[in-house]
Amino acid sequence: MHVAIEDSGSLVLRKPEMELIAKYGGPVPRYTSYPTAIQFHAGVDAATVNGWLGTLRDAGEASLYLHMAYCKSLCLYCGCNMKVTNKQDTITAYVNVLIDEMRRTAALLPERLKVGAIHLGGGTPSYVPMKDLRRVFAVMHELFDVKAGAEISMEIDPRQLVDGMPALLGELGFNRASLGIQDTNSTVQNVIRRVQPQALNVRAVTQLREAGVQDINVDLLYGLPMQTPETMRQTVADIQELRPSRIALFGYAHVPWMKKHQAVLEEYNLPDAEARLDIFNTAVEALTKAGYVAVGIDHFCLPTDPMAIAAKDGDLKRNFMGYTTDAAPVLLGFGASAISQYPQGYAQNITAPADYLDAMEKPGLPIARGVAVDAGDMARRGVIEQLLCGMRAEGHALDELLVQRERLNDMVQDGLAEWQGDTLRVTEKGRPFARAVAACFDAYLGKGASTAGRHSKGV
Ligand code: SF4
Repeated sequence: MHVAIEDSGSLVLRKPEMELIAKYGGPVPRYTSYPTAIQFHAGVDAATVNGWLGTLRDAGEASLYLHMAYCKSLCLYCGCNMKVTNKQDTITAYVNVLIDEMRRTAALLPERLKVGAIHLGGGTPSYVPMKDLRRVFAVMHELFDVKAGAEISMEIDPRQLVDGMPALLGELGFNRASLGIQDTNSTVQNVIRRVQPQALNVRAVTQLREAGVQDINVDLLYGLPMQTPETMRQTVADIQELRPSRIALFGYAHVPWMKKHQAVLEEYNLPDAEARLDIFNTAVEALTKAGYVAVGIDHFCLPTDPMAIAAKDGDLKRNFMGYTTDAAPVLLGFGASAISQYPQGYAQNITAPADYLDAMEKPGLPIARGVAVDAGDMARRGVIEQLLCGMRAEGHALDELLVQRERLNDMVQDGLAEWQGDTLRVTEKGRPFARAVAACFDAYLGKGASTAGRHSKGV
């Protein structure tokens, strides 16, 4: 269902909202899928996925996601599925296997799929040797019909962008690059072990644009140690020098029980909830002043960016990569931990790169887990997506799909959401709590033995 967003909105929270954070800001899923990954189980296996792939006739456009699992060094805030290596041969061997996985998958399809979007994430895809990237794209074009004008994007670490790489990306058809920057302050960078002088960011953006990769995204993090409102203000000013069309502003998720290396950050000044709020507000105000409009819960776009336009037109979507303008019903993921989405459900590859490589030594697809979806899941997925993308959901089925009625009533009472007939609106005050509002429609929340500590804070 297409639902229009009414305006760009404001994400700024004021101090009185600290009480609301205490009440509603607890851990909730990011809802990049529904059911969420916690519901995935080993009952969905390679045989299941073989069957799902076999039904993809006249499936419309598909998207591809390639997980490049290696990085040159470890950033202490990292929550990604990655391995550190300084051996290019290790990456080449991984790429060989990923190409093999693409071939095995394509062989199970009843016809060549049309591809409208390709994204390379990681890890650090810009650290993949150029010769290997060329091979990946040659095979991709051999196996799939990549549409002219497809959105082709890559996550770029400006510290790992060798000479010639921007030109190669232009040649391969990349048109969007997502730069991991997080914070430009040198003290913060030293603590998080990601030293990235602004000159590297400027160089990367200049070279990418010269090569034809015109659309630039930047990822920022708030809630990092040693960050203050002043450092965030300067970070936003530095980012303005790059003038990206899209900025993602994510809250740092401190989960040392899952990512042990993050524990080191506790030796420094990790901002408490109130300090996080100040830093977040500073970023939102600075970005808004710079002409960016808020999109969803964590994105800021220039009004001309396709994501801002999609949000306005009610066409914004959400998938494993977060907000997207890509409405394809099928997403094929390749590489360790990659998640695929089919009309019938989700399937995830084996997570650890070494285990993924081992599994690929045997025949078949390296599927670890997944979940099939039923009509109820799809209806709830639709409501959750509408709320997170357009800040409203409508239809008389809403009442039947609502799971946490009392909690939603409380949120309405507190001014975070409101009913207008059959339409549920997240108010401007409630926008930062949109995930908590959406969670009221989650039939699985709190179910399953392993949910504790798996989600990040809602705000
Ligand atoms: S470059 Fe990205 S994926 Fe690699 S360690 Fe740093 S944050 Fe993690």
